[in-house]
Amino acid sequence: MRLETRLVKVSERVWPDNPVSPPIYQTAAYSYRSLQQVERVLQGQEPGYTYTRGGGNPTTEELAQLMAALEEGEGSVITASGTGAMLAAILALAPTPTSIYVAREIYGGTVGLVRHVLEPLGYSFVWVDTHQPEALPKYWSHRGSGILIGETISNPRGRVSPWDAVIQAAHAHNVLVIIDNTFASPFHARPLNWGADLIVHSVTKFIGGHDDVILGAVVGSPKAIGRVQQLVDIMGVTPDPMASWLALRGARTLALRMERSSQNARKLAESLTSVSGIDQVDYPGLQFHPDYPIASRLLEHGFGAILAIHLAGGLEAVEHLVNRLHHVRLVTSLGDVSTSISHPVVASHRELTAEEKERVGIDEGTVRISVGIEHIDDLIEDFRQALA
Ligand SMILES: *Cc1c(COP(=O)(O)O)cnc(C)c1O
Repeated sequence: MRLETRLVKVSERVWPDNPVSPPIYQTAAYSYRSLQQVERVLQGQEPGYTYTRGGGNPTTEELAQLMAALEEGEGSVITASGTGAMLAAILALAPTPTSIYVAREIYGGTVGLVRHVLEPLGYSFVWVDTHQPEALPKYWSHRGSGILIGETISNPRGRVSPWDAVIQAAHAHNVLVIIDNTFASPFHARPLNWGADLIVHSVTKFIGGHDDVILGAVVGSPKAIGRVQQLVDIMGVTPDPMASWLALRGARTLALRMERSSQNARKLAESLTSVSGIDQVDYPGLQFHPDYPIASRLLEHGFGAILAIHLAGGLEAVEHLVNRLHHVRLVTSLGDVSTSISHPVVASHRELTAEEKERVGIDEGTVRISVGIEHIDDLIEDFRQALA
């Protein structure tokens, strides 16, 4: 079955009364007929639920099944946020302190997690350049273990590493790999097929797609996912059932939205390359982007919905842009049906030091654009008039 069909397919599950839309099990707990039944359910001898944090929830399970199907994985766990998903994924693969190899362009929140939660616990934080897999061994510690974290398409400059080769190089040194597939979404890439050990999503973004829910997901093998589930239950980063339902509802149109958003992003990127006052446009679907050949090889159906522009006028020019855009809003998130801009230096990447920002290639003039599903002419007109 193709992704478009999987997205709208009714689950195999038989719900009471055969509703077309899955019910929202907005309950914290479940009741029982007898002590014996509680015992049987807790032992796993009888199907059933106990408690929404630690014993599952039918609505959330429905979303987990969808996420596993979309990523072509065997299992999935839904979490209260993408950040919670990343923490659970790391701890599942590395329960005791080890080296965490972090791809240079990663989301600031993931940097914060490693820096403020894991480093104080004894994990070591190592930045790595994932663009040249053959150069990776210089980073590996002699212990021959660790976790590498990367993003399919990086934020905000759209860098795409040769992940299949990177994963192979990591595995050759017993380093396990977590790929954050938020920017690509399963519409453009399914990194388990490149050998990734776990996939992490901020479901908040393209999967949910409507900026109305905070949610995350981890996808992978049954063994790894079993451990992630255990950690999520114990740490309490469990989602609310209503949030799971909203994400399920939003996800039905993922393919349609991504198709339009990525087409719009490409057209907007092409159009902005000829606007004066813009030093550079970063979009992996532009032929002069450094990763265009790799992105063309690894991504399907386009190059995603995110681009970055670098304004020659720096911060002042960004302020003018924010003030003069009529339809496009300044938002500290992405992946919605409507187009928004954000300022990485003050928002998504504020966790980075000045030197780290320079290495990623962002400064005060950098603006990230998350492209939605509007008519492309309205978008181009709005950006052109504001930049003028
Ligand atoms: C937003 C985001 C996250 C964090 O997800 P939350 O749902 O906000 O916790 C992780 N990775 C990427 C790439 C993101 O854009």
